[in-house]
Amino acid sequence: MQITLLAHTPNPDELVAAAARICYRDTTAAELLQGEEENLSRKLIAELFASGHTSTFEHVSFTFGIDGLSRVASHQLVRHRLASFSQQSQRYVKMTPDSEAVVVPPSVKANPEALTIYQDAVRTSQEAYAQLIALGIPKEDARFILPHGHSTRLVLTMNARELHHFFGLRLCRRAQWEIHELARQMLALCREKAPVLFENAGPSCIFGRCGEARTCGKPYRDMEELLRETE
Ligand SMILES: Cc1cc2nc3c(=O)[nH]c(=O)nc-3n(C[C@H](O)[C@H](O)[C@H](O)COP(=O)(O)OP(=O)(O)OC[C@H]3O[C@@H](n4cnc5c(N)ncnc54)[C@H](O)[C@@H]3O)c2cc1C
Repeated sequence: MQITLLAHTPNPDELVAAAARICYRDTTAAELLQGEEENLSRKLIAELFASGHTSTFEHVSFTFGIDGLSRVASHQLVRHRLASFSQQSQRYVKMTPDSEAVVVPPSVKANPEALTIYQDAVRTSQEAYAQLIALGIPKEDARFILPHGHSTRLVLTMNARELHHFFGLRLCRRAQWEIHELARQMLALCREKAPVLFENAGPSCIFGRCGEARTCGKPYRDMEELLRETE
């Protein structure tokens, strides 16, 4: 899986702080933004987060290129209705029949016998796809035979409020491993551009309480542990 930050709102931390200040000051937004650019108020952003005044976060958005995510995970991703998506179409793009085209779960990779079964099944489905295409079956129909784990490409945009919501759900240890890894990489990229806005982000356990009915019992100790790549 490869995640690229394609674009983001300039000066995200400063813009959110300026947007919040417009609620309480009789001056122009441009002047407030300039003031924040000269001296960003980290305290203000922390207060917005703590008080739930997070509509201010909606002024900032991040756009990612996502390559090599399985359609299993993209199906979960597109459930996030406040995000914007453009996804590679299997109606129009012919799928490449190679071993890299299908995501292999770590549990399968770690078990040689399971890996052989998995790779054989993938090869069979890819051969059937190629045969159907050769018979003149349209791509949009031939694709029905492809595995659920087939990789896809997307462009994804979320505003910072939705990103916080997404990180809260998908960085939970109980989230599915692939979307968890996607969220981890996205958070790392967001923190590079908006360190204050994303200083605190993630599942509820990182804030000291678990919101899950069936807790994993292993709360994250800190952001460093949350952002560490899983083996
Ligand atoms: C661990 C886990 C397991 C899951 N298991 C399943 C499962 O088994 N089956 C399944 O179908 N789904 C499952 N889901 C998906 C889940 O039900 C949500 O569809 C998905 O997480 C998107 O969350 P959301 O609706 O909060 O987010 P978004 O769609 O991103 O919405 C963000 C927030 O906006 C508000 N909002 C958005 N749309 C509306 C609306 N129409 N009305 C009112 N408020 C709205 C809500 O406050 C919402 O939380 C699972 C999710 C997780 C994290």
